[in-house]
Amino acid sequence: MSAQSKIEWTDATWNPVRGCTKISPGCAHCYAETFSERFRGVKGHPFEHGFDLRLVPEKLGEPLRWSAPRRIFVNSMSDLFHKAVPDEYIKTVVNVMLQANWHTYQILTKRPERMAQLLQGRLSGAAGASHIWWGVSVENKTHGLPRVQILQKSAALVRFLSVEPLLESLGTFDLSGIDWVIVGGESGQGARQMKPAWVREIREQCTRAGVAFFFKQWGGVRKSETGRLLDGKTWDATPIISRHPVLPIAERKRALGLLRA
Ligand code: SF4
Repeated sequence: MSAQSKIEWTDATWNPVRGCTKISPGCAHCYAETFSERFRGVKGHPFEHGFDLRLVPEKLGEPLRWSAPRRIFVNSMSDLFHKAVPDEYIKTVVNVMLQANWHTYQILTKRPERMAQLLQGRLSGAAGASHIWWGVSVENKTHGLPRVQILQKSAALVRFLSVEPLLESLGTFDLSGIDWVIVGGESGQGARQMKPAWVREIREQCTRAGVAFFFKQWGGVRKSETGRLLDGKTWDATPIISRHPVLPIAERKRALGLLRA
């Protein structure tokens, strides 16, 4: 995958894991699955094995090689907390984030139970890091809002919601402890429609609660035509990015060597 991303709320993607399995209605038209399956059976292609879950250790060091600070979406083509990813491997991924702390990491999961459990245990050293943002996907009330509650109870310092694809009104819900909310409609073939009223009610709750609100897109079959204006403007608020100095090249090389060992 290219390091650069077209996703509006990030700069780059980093995929030390590829592949996943569906878990809730938000997964129905998973773009990662559609993309990956296109290359199943293509010898030598990164997605030769389609959407089957695979660890990609050769990708672990990427953030250490990127010297310019970026917002990095971790595992845009997978879910770091999928049950098939070993605890030890997750810890290695998180250790890279702690070392390459001049970047900002955005981790998004539909499996927050495991994330919250690990943040109490093996990942506790990362829970308080201001450059690692921990998020859950929310598509509806039944599957999405319970994830928000688990995230709120977790030890994460910076917490966010990716409300995409928004499939119904979420009604009034508790935003305490949440720093950022992204909202977007589904895009591509068969995209399910998102109503403006559902978006506005989330934006208004964010405004009242003092939560940064980011409107990603309306989506639809041709998302370039529907754009990302809401009530005549773009909504691009994000949490504050913390700044840390870039590690000297010798230290980065040493860290990369240890990863390969
Ligand atoms: S959890 Fe995410 S990556 Fe996994 S199938 Fe669902 S939408 Fe796709």
